[in-house]
Amino acid sequence: MKKIRNILLIMLMVFVITSAFGLSIQIRGEAGRKNIPEKKIDGIDYLAIEELTPVFKCISKQEKADQRLYFHLYGETFIFLESAPYYTFKNQSYNAHFPLLSQGGKYYIPLNFFTELLPQHFPGKVSFTQNVLRIEDPQDYGVHVIVLDPGHGGKDPGAIGRRLKAKEKDINLDVALKLKVLLEKELGLQVLMTRSDDRFVSLGDRTKFANDNKANLFISIHANASKSSSSKGTETYYLSTAVTSDARAVEALENQVVDLYEGGVEARSKYDGLDFILSDLSQTEHLESSNELAGNIQQNIVAGTRSYDRGVKQANFYVLRGAFMPAVLVELGFISNPEEERLLIDPDYQQRLARTIFEGIKRFKYRYDRIRNT
Ligand SMILES: [Zn+2]
Repeated sequence: MKKIRNILLIMLMVFVITSAFGLSIQIRGEAGRKNIPEKKIDGIDYLAIEELTPVFKCISKQEKADQRLYFHLYGETFIFLESAPYYTFKNQSYNAHFPLLSQGGKYYIPLNFFTELLPQHFPGKVSFTQNVLRIEDPQDYGVHVIVLDPGHGGKDPGAIGRRLKAKEKDINLDVALKLKVLLEKELGLQVLMTRSDDRFVSLGDRTKFANDNKANLFISIHANASKSSSSKGTETYYLSTAVTSDARAVEALENQVVDLYEGGVEARSKYDGLDFILSDLSQTEHLESSNELAGNIQQNIVAGTRSYDRGVKQANFYVLRGAFMPAVLVELGFISNPEEERLLIDPDYQQRLARTIFEGIKRFKYRYDRIRNT
């Protein structure tokens, strides 16, 4: 009798401990469990959607204007309406029994949606047993891993300012580091840097790094230079082999690292040979999304910094060629223009650049995630 009581006591303790941790989620094929803390609101258990999406590796979108929450999983979309217990799934209405709530700018979904209803919508993929939600690894092609590539570095300073002698490599790194913080904090993305300090990284190694890490986006950050000190403005590039003469000048500038630091003619012939053909094919299927990403970034920078709009352009950059993902190269401004050089080294202006690039990526992510998941 005492033994049974002890067992009951242990079971009760386990139950209390697991429920105190909230919802325990196990992704099939992955070791370990992830716990999402629950929040009691009016006596009902809720989960914050923003804590769930990284675990589910899915996307949620909050439309505060029409008080809707979109939650994408396995290529399907759940639509919740604030304060209502109903949601739609595959054009049908369902009753979650408890309403979607908004508190402190966060959306909360009732816990029972995940433990009772989700397993019914995805039988075989989602199950809830012994207080653990087990889910199949969601097949997911959305944007989760971003590689930021601050151009130049180490022995390669990039362009150098006329008046203040600012080095392009430092500006690129400062803006990239600021952008990294925003992407991690506000979108929960995994951000990897081809360099996070002042070091030399070859162009080939930069895209290889992105491919090896299965990045979803590759964003190279540069500052422009021109013989004319009056040249000004921002432009964003994506890869192409057919280019205008203007783009060719920037292309020559950004590619010259191959000649100067990476073994010159020999290295160039390597890039121009089989590697080029293969890698060019790898970018072809992403040209459309690269164009769209470039457009989103360019528009946001121009709107947010009032920098002169040089537009979205195509050029044949080595650093974009080998990327197996949408890839763009941003020229923040002209370091050769004294006024822009002053701005480019100003931390406040760098923060604004990072913010506007971030907004461009965010817009692209929402659209891209939705397309790829349906
Ligand atoms: Zn550069």
